[in-house]
Amino acid sequence: MIYLNGEFLPLAEAKVSVMDRGFLFGDGVYEVIPVYSRRPFRLAQHLRRLGNTLAGVRLPNPHSDAEWTDLIDRIIIQAESADQQVYLQVTRGVDSRRSHAFPRQVRPTVMIMSEPLAPPESAECEQGVAAVSAVDNRWLRCDLKVVSLLANCLLRQLAVDAGCVETLLLRDGFLSEGSASNIFLVKNGVLLAPQQNHLMLPGVTYDVVLELAAAHGLKYQVRDILEAEVRNADELWMTSSTREVLAIVALDGRPVGDGRPGPLYRSMFGWYQAFKREVMHGGRNT
Ligand code: PMP
Repeated sequence: MIYLNGEFLPLAEAKVSVMDRGFLFGDGVYEVIPVYSRRPFRLAQHLRRLGNTLAGVRLPNPHSDAEWTDLIDRIIIQAESADQQVYLQVTRGVDSRRSHAFPRQVRPTVMIMSEPLAPPESAECEQGVAAVSAVDNRWLRCDLKVVSLLANCLLRQLAVDAGCVETLLLRDGFLSEGSASNIFLVKNGVLLAPQQNHLMLPGVTYDVVLELAAAHGLKYQVRDILEAEVRNADELWMTSSTREVLAIVALDGRPVGDGRPGPLYRSMFGWYQAFKREVMHGGRNT
């Protein structure tokens, strides 16, 4: 079952007009929320980011947080798998003609669906993954989670073509993020994260990682990161709601550090799994 504009219906019956601005212009926003044991992880933070993105593209939020929570809960209950990724999308709706300017009256298209959540395979966690790098050629509002993801798709495909998992993006000599993840690095025992600005998505997992670093006394710095620092890192990590925290052990065919997941990655991976268990089974809902 998926939710579409006020109705719950089977996926095959859910239809959107070809005049929808999401289809014609990529004029829409989205969120992906991981769900463990049928409990959404960091829902408040995902809804806050959704609100920021909607405001950033001048779309009124069609629902209050309470309404979103209720709709998402109803999708979660009906899904088969206990661990899920909930995908929600809001577009600027259907217009009577194709015109760049906003329709006079916007009735947004709202869709929510659930897919099984496949956490990274244990081999990926234990051995790490390979990445390539590329020039970040996206627009200047990468802080907004919008559905016009063609640049991200083209950049991710570079990794796939090279048999890798992710593409690290470099803009004007600085690290921004991955094609669908945030990137951290470790140098001399210090965790480094790029500072959040309009050139990267404010990741919910990024925040969790920095909170866990602070809670466990791991030294960290949030600042601009040079390409040379990326290439000389002792460890590189990628983070996202669906991939959690993964070690990048090769970049552009060269090993990162000694080519294996590093000691701080192993610590962070353990803290992240423990935090997830605590939140999902311990009654905490943060
Ligand atoms: N950056 C980009 C471009 C993304 O698409 C994503 C999400 N897949 C992230 C960062 C990570 O964000 P989050 O931790 O909230 O999933």
